[in-house]
This record gives sequence, structure tokens and C-alpha cells, in this order.
Amino acid sequence: MSSILVVQEARRDGSARIFQETLAAGRKLAALTGLPLEAAAVGDPNANIFREITGAPPSAGHAIRHPLLAAYTADGYVLAFEQLIRQLEPRYVLFPHTYQARDFVPRLAARFGQVLIGDVTAIETGPTFERQLFQGRINAAYRHTSDGPCFVSIQNGAFRADEPSGGTMPISEFLPAIEPAQIRIQPSDPFRESAQTVDLGSAQRIVCVGRGIKTADNMPLVEALAGALDAELAASRPICDNGWLPMERQVGSSGQTVAPKLYLAIGISGAIQHLVGMKGSQCIVAVNKDADAPIFEVANYGIVGDLFEVVPALTEAVKAAK
Ligand SMILES: Cc1cc2nc3c(=O)[nH]c(=O)nc-3n(C[C@H](O)[C@H](O)[C@H](O)COP(=O)(O)OP(=O)(O)OC[C@H]3O[C@@H](n4cnc5c(N)ncnc54)[C@H](O)[C@@H]3O)c2cc1C
Repeated sequence: MSSILVVQEARRDGSARIFQETLAAGRKLAALTGLPLEAAAVGDPNANIFREITGAPPSAGHAIRHPLLAAYTADGYVLAFEQLIRQLEPRYVLFPHTYQARDFVPRLAARFGQVLIGDVTAIETGPTFERQLFQGRINAAYRHTSDGPCFVSIQNGAFRADEPSGGTMPISEFLPAIEPAQIRIQPSDPFRESAQTVDLGSAQRIVCVGRGIKTADNMPLVEALAGALDAELAASRPICDNGWLPMERQVGSSGQTVAPKLYLAIGISGAIQHLVGMKGSQCIVAVNKDADAPIFEVANYGIVGDLFEVVPALTEAVKAAK
């Protein structure tokens, strides 16, 4: 029980960033425990998946290879990771909190008589792992007390990925023993959001609109700002509930979690259910006519004013700067 193992999920678009965020969480845990950091992934050791390391490289990388792992199945992944973990005996195993991790990690943890501490948003001294309950109304801190490995999944956007370092790590191959009869699941195409869905989680700039916009007729105002900034347009829940934007553009606890470089919150109050989805953004600019709106507590820049005056002025200023 002598290391922290960070797992990269199978390659898919946008998976590099959540892996890098999970690595950042692993580094925080390493600083708190003094344990070395290692990384593991299913795939070819020469593939990009092992070249996406940001920050100080882990001390070792493990490339899990087997023909039966070419397509993701929970059966195959549980068998492979169980064997790797029994060999390496890490104290902590960290996964990005993805659909895939949610699918197979609880079963993997059960093989070790453990549970998954899922959707972790912070790691503090102890170490304790924080996660939210009741849609963000309560923060709960969990401490691992048993002897077995501790399985944790890290919420998208909760940790900021480090900058690319150009560092490399030694990579070794791990060849698990898996028989075809042990794969009882027929893999089909990987899950994808519906075709029109935008992956807001990968967006670099987001203009997010809230109830301050008042009516659907006013939406072109924020569309113009998003267009000028080459940003994705997103919304708080009431806007999507009203059908003014599709549900998949909702940011928050029951929508998407985002971590863009720039997040403009236009006429959004900053309810906790909204904040949990966007507080990982690098630069938050809020426009609100109420100087006491909670959104200003997380904003890097705040504009107290009427959005119907501020937004057209911003749009013109961006166009002029271009
Ligand atoms: C289980 C559950 C899940 C939820 N999930 C989500 C979620 O995923 N995402 C989410 O966003 N919410 C979610 N909510 C809803 C959340 O609690 C809030 O109700 C919602 O975020 C409020 O949206 P808002 O900020 O747009 O609206 P409001 O809270 O009504 O805020 C509107 C803001 O606009 C400002 N304003 C008004 N007029 C102007 C103007 N002319 N110029 C400038 N500013 C102006 C006001 O001062 C105010 O601050 C959830 C709630 C529950 C119970």
C-alpha cells in the first residue's frame, strides 16, 4: 500500500483534460500523504494517451494491453484493473468521474471489499475526500479507514489541470490474464450524447445566460455576444426549463460541469446548484444589476449594471477589438 494510482479512461474526445485534472487531484493527495504518484491506462504505451501528462510526471506509467480490451466492457476492465491493483498494491486509486468509471469502478471496488467515494470535489488534510450531497446543499467529508485500497472518482472541473511540462515517465506494459468466456457483455458503440449536444466541458469560452434576460425574445442579445467571442452559449436551469435553450446547454448540478478559460455569467444569481457546475472556470466575469448577488463571490471580474446596457456594449467592444 505504497502509492497513488491515477487511471486514464479509454481514449475518447475530451478525455485528456479530465485525466489531467485527476492527475492534479493525485498530486494534491501525494503532497498530503507523501506517497508517490503512478498512472495507468488501457492501451498502447506509444499512444497519445500516455503523452498527455501535464505538471510533474508520475514516477511510473502502466500500459494495460490485451486484445479483449480493444473495446470497453465492464467485465474486461474490472478483470484487468483488479490484477494490476493486486500487483501494485496502491493505497489510493483515482479515476475521472465519467460514465465509464461510474459503470465499472463500483464493481472493481467491491472485488476488494471497498466502496467508491464518487464525485469528489476536494481533497483535504487527513486525507479527507469531499463530495456534495442533496444537490450541493451539504458538503460531506469522507475518510478511508480500512486496509484495502481506497477508490475515488474526481468530479469534472473540480481540480485545475497543471500546465504541460514536457516531462516524461517510464512506461511498462501490463498483460492481464483474460479469457473470452469472462467477457459476458457485447460491446456496442461508445455512449455519445445526442448529435446536437455540445460538449460544454471542452469549451474554452462560455457565455452563460440566466433569468435576468427576462424573455426568449431577448436571447439574440447574448447570442451576439457569444458569436463575437467565438464562445459556446449556455444557460442556468430556468432558461432551459423554459425551453429557450436546449437542456444540454444547462450548466450546474443537474446540467454540465464546465471549466473554460473564460466564463461570462449574464443575469445569473449564483445559486449553489449553478456554482458547482462552473466554479472551476479560470476567469469568471459576472454581469448582474444586484451588487449582492452571490455570483460576485466567485467572480474574478464583476460588472454591476443592467445587462440590457452592458451586453450590447461588451459585444461592440469585442468586435472593435477584433
Ligand atoms: C435539484 C435542483 C437542481 C438544480 N440544478 C440546477 C442546475 O443544474 N443549474 C442551474 O443553473 N440551476 C439549477 N437549479 C436551480 C437553482 O437553484 C436556481 O434556481 C437557478 O440557478 C437560478 O437561475 P438564475 O440565476 O438564472 O435565476 P435567478 O436566481 O432568478 O437570478 C436572476 C439574476 O438576474 C439578475 N438580473 C435581473 N435582471 C437583470 C438585469 N436587467 N441586468 C442584470 N442582472 C439582472 C438578478 O439580480 C438575479 O441575480 C437547481 C435546483 C434544484 C432544486
